[in-house]
Formats: sequence, C-alpha cells, structure tokens
Amino acid sequence: MKSIPMNIHDIIKFVRQLKAPSEYLSAYLHEHEPATERICATCAHVAIPKRQMLGRAEIERYLWAIVVVLAVIYVAGFVLIQLTTFHPVRWGFKLTSMSGKVFLVLSMAYTIIRLSIRTSHCPACNGTEVIPVDSPRGRKLKEQHHSP
Ligand SMILES: [Zn+2]
Repeated sequence: MKSIPMNIHDIIKFVRQLKAPSEYLSAYLHEHEPATERICATCAHVAIPKRQMLGRAEIERYLWAIVVVLAVIYVAGFVLIQLTTFHPVRWGFKLTSMSGKVFLVLSMAYTIIRLSIRTSHCPACNGTEVIPVDSPRGRKLKEQHHSP
C-alpha cells in the first residue's frame, strides 16, 4: 500500500523541478540580451545587475497546476456526460469548465505580468536603482566613489 504515497511524492518532486512558464519564456526572450555593467545609485557598486521578476514563481506554478488539473477533470467530465444524463454530473462539468477558464485567464495574466515587470537589482546592496555607467549621473557617481 506504500506505492500511492510514493507516487505522490514523485509527482511533487517532479512538479518542483519544473520552472514557471514565465521563467522559461524569460530565458528564451532575453537570451540574446547583452548584459551590461551598471552602477548602483545607492552604494556605487559597479556590476551586472541581478534580474528579478515580480511575483512568485511558486504561485505561478500552482496556478498552472490548477489549470492542468481542471483540464483533466474537464476532459473526464466531457466523456462522462456522453454516458450519463445524471444532472449533478452536468453541473459539475459546467462548473469545471467555468472555473477552468477563470484559472486559465488568471494564470496567463500572472505569467504576462511577471514577464513584463522585471526589475534590476544591485548584487551588493539589492538596491533597485541601477543606472548605466556611461550616463552623466553614472559617471558622476563613479568619480565620487571610485576616485582615489
Ligand atoms: Zn548597491
């Protein structure tokens, strides 16, 4: 009887390994984006900034997991309503179909929002204001902090 919990653990392990859709898309979209050094307006640290997406990958992953589960129930329900005229089954099917659409829209919106709102962080102090080194302000900052 130990095979079922083992399988659930394996599934959870497998799902945890998966990246959120926006992480895959982000890697794909920004693959050729040149990484340039920037200067931090807070601590004047010059480095390639860390990229961070808004929101949490776990939330996005769970949203898409719900979509997948609802899709499976939807397909099963679709088969079931061909075989039965039992009313609760039909209601259940309609409910799954509706909530499936809601979660699909939510998940897509979350993925798109995460993709579009990305911030750059200073690797030293986590400051969000990282400016180009060759900008007037960047040059001034460099002079102030990096000159002997
Ligand atoms: Zn900094």
